[in-house]
Amino acid sequence: MLEDKLSRCPKCGSENVVPIVYGRTTFEMAKQEKAGEIHIGGESIENDGSKWYCNDCGYKWGGKSSLL
Ligand SMILES: [Zn+2]
Repeated sequence: MLEDKLSRCPKCGSENVVPIVYGRTTFEMAKQEKAGEIHIGGESIENDGSKWYCNDCGYKWGGKSSLL
């Protein structure tokens, strides 16, 4: 797995943070997103390819340029 849930949201401090998964959305991914385990980033990597998503405020971060 990835680094799991080591991260906190840099914006609101929430620990309700999930990894962003890119690629074609599968049934499994949709299920995981509903369960609050991942965030679906879409088929193509946007901007710098943020890695983490805050379920509380919707902030995305952790792209290539800003590893926390
Ligand atoms: Zn947040």
